[in-house]
Amino acid sequence: MRTAVPLSPPAPAVAGEAVVVSALEKAFGDAPVLRGAALDVPAGRLVALLGPSGCGKTTLLRTIAGLERPDAGEVRVGARVLSGPDTFTPPERRRIGMVFQDAALFPHLSVGRNVAYGLPRRDPRRADRVDAALALVGLAGLAGRAPATLSGGQAQRVALARALAPAPSVILLDEPFSGLDAPLRAELRLEVRRVLAETGATGIFVTHDQEEAFVVGDEVAVMQEGRVLQQADAATLYELPASRAVAEFVGDANLVDGVGEGDVARTPLGAVPLHAPCEGPVQVMIRPERLLAAPGGAATVEAVEYFGHDAVYRVRLADGETVRSRVIGAPALAAGDAVTLAFTGAPTVAFPAR
Ligand code: ATP
Repeated sequence: MRTAVPLSPPAPAVAGEAVVVSALEKAFGDAPVLRGAALDVPAGRLVALLGPSGCGKTTLLRTIAGLERPDAGEVRVGARVLSGPDTFTPPERRRIGMVFQDAALFPHLSVGRNVAYGLPRRDPRRADRVDAALALVGLAGLAGRAPATLSGGQAQRVALARALAPAPSVILLDEPFSGLDAPLRAELRLEVRRVLAETGATGIFVTHDQEEAFVVGDEVAVMQEGRVLQQADAATLYELPASRAVAEFVGDANLVDGVGEGDVARTPLGAVPLHAPCEGPVQVMIRPERLLAAPGGAATVEAVEYFGHDAVYRVRLADGETVRSRVIGAPALAAGDAVTLAFTGAPTVAFPAR
């Protein structure tokens, strides 16, 4: 529950700094985990780092925080090189805040003392900073509470307040809400956006949940096997993925064989307009909602998956290829029905045939 206060202290004033990570390498033993990872987060922006389990997201975050030393590459924050060939700034001097999956509050300290933990003892504005940070996360008035009396969502808000209290220029969040239920997670991720925008801090938010990455991030960086494959705003990632790997990892993608002829590709679904001209054998990426299904034709509905808000037809084309077509709401076609599929919408991307 939020506690209403008539006047909140001002949010901690922060000048967000850009985070630029380049060519990071890190191995544990002989197992390479970061393999040339690069990331570019403009000052005051929030980038979601999205990738499957084990791809190195946490290691990348810990390397930015200075909790790991990279084997090669560079971490820059603003004008400062924090990790580089001849430099290593220890974590406590980086002015970077971190929020982990587990709130990790000190159980024997009050909420207020937890938030004060990272502040200099002699800071005359210590109490004000704690109040401001708690107000910012919607927990004004709870400074005296014991962590054990908080809900999971409140505990994560306290962890966020603790990270924000010293006014860091960068905040790193590692799957901070993955232990919470879906509605609370949805609420808190919007909170993070608001709070970071209010403070001006730069943020990197790790998640393996695509929806969360899209909602939270000004931009999304897709990571796989120790590399960032593409960093872009969510719509660009979804509509114009730079590689097959990104197309298949972000959302649902049909990859349809075709032949590029400049601005279009000839495919079993007809001519599909291309975002960039292509010649020769290609695979055209078509999102299922871009394929309109109409009754009658040479293709056959093989199966229907009904999700409530939408449904997906699995359709076998005349040449034997199978594609997915999405419709809003309840499906009008059933398995076994004859169907025609037509591409609709803006030009899409094609990749060289495998
Ligand atoms: P998840 O989403 O599951 O947390 P992740 O993308 O954050 O995964 P990392 O936690 O960075 O991935 O781990 C990447 C790989 O590095 C894993 O195989 C992991 O076992 C290994 N790894 C991470 N830290 C260490 C360490 N300190 N020592 C040895 N191996 C490690």
